[in-house]
Amino acid sequence: MTTPVYLDHAATTPVRDEVLAAMTPYFGAQFGNPSSVHRWGREARVALDEARERLAGCLGAHPDEVCFTSGGTEADNLAVLGVFRARRSEGRPAVVTTPIEHKAVLAAAHQAAHEGGEERLAAVLPDGTVSREAFARVIDARVAVASVMWVNNETGVMQDIPALGAMAREAGAVFHTDAVQAFGKVAIDLAALPIDLLSLSGHKLGAPKGVGALYIRRQTPLAPLFHGGSQDRGRRPGTENVAFAVGLATAAELTRAEHAQEAARLAALRDRLEGALRAQVPDAVIHGAAAPRAPHIVNVSIPGTSSEALLMALDLRGIAASAGSACQSGSVSASHVLAAMGVPTPLALGALRLSLGALSTEAGVDRAAEVLATLARKARGLPASGMAAGDAPAACAFVPAGGG
Ligand SMILES: *Cc1c(COP(=O)(O)O)cnc(C)c1O
Repeated sequence: MTTPVYLDHAATTPVRDEVLAAMTPYFGAQFGNPSSVHRWGREARVALDEARERLAGCLGAHPDEVCFTSGGTEADNLAVLGVFRARRSEGRPAVVTTPIEHKAVLAAAHQAAHEGGEERLAAVLPDGTVSREAFARVIDARVAVASVMWVNNETGVMQDIPALGAMAREAGAVFHTDAVQAFGKVAIDLAALPIDLLSLSGHKLGAPKGVGALYIRRQTPLAPLFHGGSQDRGRRPGTENVAFAVGLATAAELTRAEHAQEAARLAALRDRLEGALRAQVPDAVIHGAAAPRAPHIVNVSIPGTSSEALLMALDLRGIAASAGSACQSGSVSASHVLAAMGVPTPLALGALRLSLGALSTEAGVDRAAEVLATLARKARGLPASGMAAGDAPAACAFVPAGGG
């Protein structure tokens, strides 16, 4: 039995041992509510405050600028809808975003439009970067908030956040970036960047699912999504998840400390994987390869194959990847990200996302490339011991890449 190969780190990562160890006391003796005045409460308060300070330290932020959330989705919703609702009465009813954002941002912008706001999208170029001209056209004095993701979760394409943030702020817009896939891959110093809001998700960096954070620069107008107590300065009412806050801070510190070394390791693995694919499947198309990219994502289409069939065949061989297409009510549709880049639908329907991280090794990427090459030859009817014709699943049974 060959070792399984997990190439889906953009979907989620395992909880690190250090993170689990740091969280454990808060499921046990240190169970207090941080709002209680007694010693149990005070202990929990100290742990929460320390977690906030440590996470702020990782970002170049002040501790009071860190708001813990239930994950990246909540952070994105709080950023987009929170600013829209706080600023619409200022004569700023517009929300600017791009067609390649995570669904959490796109759906929040859509909700703003549903509430009487105006949704504006800045187009991306074929390489996956946001067009500066298109962005300039949609930014004006009616924009409450502009949201552009730092690293795309399907292609790894990186945006020029300092430049776009400066453009947005010049027009008086609040600037938000979804940095869920960027943290640990890109250096982030918020003291020096034109960013007002930044989203993080724990489970993409070795903390549990169900925790994240929104960085909120001081003075940023923001209406809360929830209504209740005064926790987190009223920005996010509800008894704080002390254990997960400690876990997120611990994961963020470890990730940040390892950033340079790990980014270089992943870039070398990514180049090795792409080199092997290009050599063995010469017509493979790597999406976003012409743009600056984070080192952990490879989005590849092999003409004549479908991502569903490839995913199933890879899974049978112990290799976990993700589709670059979305599965909606039983039928497969092309990824909104690839569509926005102008990738033809038949090619987009074959897209696979292979994402690297802590579990990735040279042996793993070599095996993935070799298996993909075999499957590609087989799909073309060339001799290979790969996927049989009957392997192709008819049903759509995969988690969409957009969910990662
Ligand atoms: C995973 C992801 C999210 C959502 O984060 P959750 O914690 O899973 O809600 C948002 N944006 C991007 C870019 C992601 O990759």
